[in-house]
Amino acid sequence: MTEPDKLKFLEGLRSPLAERVRRHDWSGTSMGSPEQWPQSLRSVVSLMLGSGFPMFVAWGPQLHTIYNDGYVEIMGAKHPGGWGMPFLEIWHEIRDDLQPFVEKVSAGETFFIENLPLTLRRHGYDEETWFTFSWSPVLDDRGAKVGIYCACTETTRAVLAERHVRLEHERLAALFQQAPGFLAVLRGPEHIFENFNDAYQQLVGFRTLRGLSLAAALPEVVEQGFIDLLDQAYLSGQPFQGRSMQVVLNRTPGSPPVQAYVDFVFQPTLDAAGTVQGIIVQGHDVTEQYRSQLELRRADQRKDEFLATLAHELRNPLAPVSNAIAILRSPQVDDGMRTRMLDLMERQTRHLVRLVDDLLEVSRITSGKIELRRERLDLRAVAQASVDSAHSAIQEARHQVTLSMPPHPVWVHADPARMKQVMDNMLNNAVKYTAPEGRIEVTIRADDRACVSFRDNGAGIPSDMLGSVFELFAQVDQTIGRAKGGLGIGLALVRQLVSLHGGEVHAASDGLGSGSTFTVLLPLGPIQLPSPAEPIGSQLLQAATPKRVLIIDDNRDAADSMADVLRICGHTVEAAYEGEGGLALADSFLPDCILLDIGMPGMDGHEVARALRAKAPHSRCMIVAITGWGQSMDRERTRQSGFDSHLVKPAAIDDVMALLDRA
Ligand code: ADP
Repeated sequence: MTEPDKLKFLEGLRSPLAERVRRHDWSGTSMGSPEQWPQSLRSVVSLMLGSGFPMFVAWGPQLHTIYNDGYVEIMGAKHPGGWGMPFLEIWHEIRDDLQPFVEKVSAGETFFIENLPLTLRRHGYDEETWFTFSWSPVLDDRGAKVGIYCACTETTRAVLAERHVRLEHERLAALFQQAPGFLAVLRGPEHIFENFNDAYQQLVGFRTLRGLSLAAALPEVVEQGFIDLLDQAYLSGQPFQGRSMQVVLNRTPGSPPVQAYVDFVFQPTLDAAGTVQGIIVQGHDVTEQYRSQLELRRADQRKDEFLATLAHELRNPLAPVSNAIAILRSPQVDDGMRTRMLDLMERQTRHLVRLVDDLLEVSRITSGKIELRRERLDLRAVAQASVDSAHSAIQEARHQVTLSMPPHPVWVHADPARMKQVMDNMLNNAVKYTAPEGRIEVTIRADDRACVSFRDNGAGIPSDMLGSVFELFAQVDQTIGRAKGGLGIGLALVRQLVSLHGGEVHAASDGLGSGSTFTVLLPLGPIQLPSPAEPIGSQLLQAATPKRVLIIDDNRDAADSMADVLRICGHTVEAAYEGEGGLALADSFLPDCILLDIGMPGMDGHEVARALRAKAPHSRCMIVAITGWGQSMDRERTRQSGFDSHLVKPAAIDDVMALLDRA
């Protein structure tokens, strides 16, 4: 046994592990005492233990391992137990990784391995690590390979840091690529494309950019002043901002140029010394927003024009009416004059009502408030009714109108009033926009869909207007349209009504002066539905069996004029102008029917109706709501308050008369 203090080997090395070699009891090991170690082993061991760089030497057939202080950290919790143990036992968890190197170095090779990934278990858990090794054989004094010498360094931190940098770089590159706006990096005074993202490529088209100057890559923009702006930004170092600027691009060779609108900034980039290196182009394609703003501005302009026209159109009929009133008041008015004035007033009032109706209708449809009352409907009857209603206008213009239709019914599932409105509009237009003595053909067919067409040989429509005549307030020629008393509402209504019915409407014309054809296509209706109770068409004012009628309405004019009309028709009528008074009058007058306004100050129509129903004498009396509100919700409320019927203002006299008949 070698006394440790006698060992001169490694004397003077101030390393705990050198000390350990000296004090170790080597007698039982296959390596034997260091005194007997070959000189080569002693040199390598002393070199290793004297170095601060992590190293180990594995010696003998078992590869007993001695390592230095630098290697302790690599060993982790395997130190100190592993010291002197066979190499592949120390690192049993990575034996398969190490075995090939051990074999190679045992065969005499010297080699270097960089950043080898190894999963170590040196702290009781798996750890992803990387190592750089230099392996070389240790020879004995006769040159035989007897061990391994390995210097190694753990590069885990460096590898992870590099991986982090790479991932960060990839992430930034992906962000750059996917940035919502367009980005391009230009270098040098020639504005060479160094990088650009997907949005930029989308903007300018998929052509070669990288490495080319902007002028070479996008020649079409040179003339548009963008290169000048880039030059200025490059020379001055000042950014340039563009708002909604137009750029015309040839996105694919040979295809027509496209216009785009862009918000962007040319931002000069500086090096550490503050010298301009290049320019970052950053921005957004705002073409859509630009167009929709333009469209909004146009719509706004159309609305302003429309309001001006509307005021004018509403005033137009009022002037003759007030003249007529003045004339009727004068004592000199004779019977002939009186009839003429009354006719005039009736005509103008009808016109006003139609204008207001149309406007209300448009607003109801555009806000989705219209409800269709569909039933089985023979389109032939609607067309016939429409032609009948237009009779006087047709005669006045001396048009020749033909109505061709199949001998059998053409059933659709539609709202009769709305269908009549559609056909009236189309026919009135044909009558209006055709010079006197024109020809108008109304044709009905049933193929896979029901089809009604109105063909005239009138003014015609230029091809660029064919798509837009269905837009609200659109008129081919405003002066003509307005002169004919139109506001450009009719066809918009037609299109909306037809599409509510699941149909389509089309306009065709060979141009100005060549006549027009409007076609409505509707889905055919199921044939088994019951037929409508009443035929379509205008109803005549019926003579009535006299009834006692009480009108309650806070609008005196409305109440009095209705009372007058009903009296003329032979009824006995009383009127009250507020709820309480109406109730009292009902008790004394005992009416058969009460026409009751809903919105009134004090007691409103609902309260009056409930009070009436609570009184025995009025329990059987017919109560009719006459109101501006006509949605199904409103109808449901009046029903619940005890009303029998619900008419929407202005109530047609025919409808009131029909109800009184039933009272
Ligand atoms: P309005 O007739 O009140 O102006 P419409 O919406 O009914 O409004 O029609 C819009 C425009 O379409 C009309 O102003 C007219 O220029 C054109 N138009 C409609 N019908 C015809 C037709 N049969 N022939 C020629 N132009 C028509």
